[in-house]
Amino acid sequence: MTQLQPVLALDVGGTKLAAGVVARDGTVRSFCRIETAVGEGPTAVVKRLLDLGEQALAEAGLPVGSTPVAAVGVGCGGPLDPSTGVILGPPGLPGWDSVPLGQLVAERFELPTYVENDATAAALGEYRWGGWGVESLVYLTVSTGFGGGIVASGKLFHGAARQGGELGHVVIDWQGRQCGCGARGCAEAYVSGTSIARRATEAVAGSDSTLAGLTITAKDVAAHARAGDPIARAVWDETTAMLGRMVAVLVNVCEPELVVLGGGVTRAGAQLLDPVRNAALRQAMPPAARACDVVLSRHGDAVGVLGAAAIAYERLGDA
Ligand code: ADP
Ligand code: ZN
Repeated sequence: MTQLQPVLALDVGGTKLAAGVVARDGTVRSFCRIETAVGEGPTAVVKRLLDLGEQALAEAGLPVGSTPVAAVGVGCGGPLDPSTGVILGPPGLPGWDSVPLGQLVAERFELPTYVENDATAAALGEYRWGGWGVESLVYLTVSTGFGGGIVASGKLFHGAARQGGELGHVVIDWQGRQCGCGARGCAEAYVSGTSIARRATEAVAGSDSTLAGLTITAKDVAAHARAGDPIARAVWDETTAMLGRMVAVLVNVCEPELVVLGGGVTRAGAQLLDPVRNAALRQAMPPAARACDVVLSRHGDAVGVLGAAAIAYERLGDA
């Protein structure tokens, strides 16, 4: 009976918070989002997340107290402990050291609560509700940060440390840029929205780029590259080259049927997908490349909420 009930899903990103009620068939019955405003610190952000969850329940016609809701699934940037729901200082959420997010959510909603790395969760959401009809996929989120998850033979890969694979910290240039994790040349040091903005900011200093004078975001870099600004284009091309190389590595390691790209930066659409897909399938070993395709998630901003919901169903035993 509980398996037929919808779940509440919460998505904690470095840029946005999202909440939604998701039915077992993947129907999103309500969806709301607000800015994270990460500078306010974990106490204020968690309070707004919990309020957003209540709003999502109300918008789905399921106010707190009368909720025929089975559980709450939460996706959050890692590292975190999925067994206790404690957040362990993610680079994208400064100050979130030992935040007992699972417990705080469980206390507000009085429901079983399951916390998972957001990108790991989204891989399961894409497998379950992406409509792809595959048994193996790698999901990569290009958002404030960069990370991913792996589904193999229909099962989410959790790993011995239960982080689901640290895909954002695969080194693609051992002499490369400093990453927030302390290493050099991680994929996240190039491919995240934060890094795109930072590299563009460095590159425009003292130049006549059309980006000069702006507080630059990854969205600006994409738009100015499209309009032909050479510096924006160089930063964008480096980003897609690095992501293409990263996808080729993953195609060689995992031989997935599909690599799905999601997250805010993928709103750039073909401007991101085409060069990444071409580079990845050219660089991967031919049999692995022939067995694979690279696509954009169809779920847009809801990809995180669907991932968190998929984790709730998985942990309820409804995989
Ligand atoms: P979160 O990390 O909170 O889940 P998002 O997935 O929305 O948030 O990712 C936010 C990032 O997406 C920011 O770096 C932002 O600049 C970038 N972004 C948003 N829209 C676009 C766009 N059209 N093109 C490229 N980047 C974009
Ligand atoms: Zn790193």
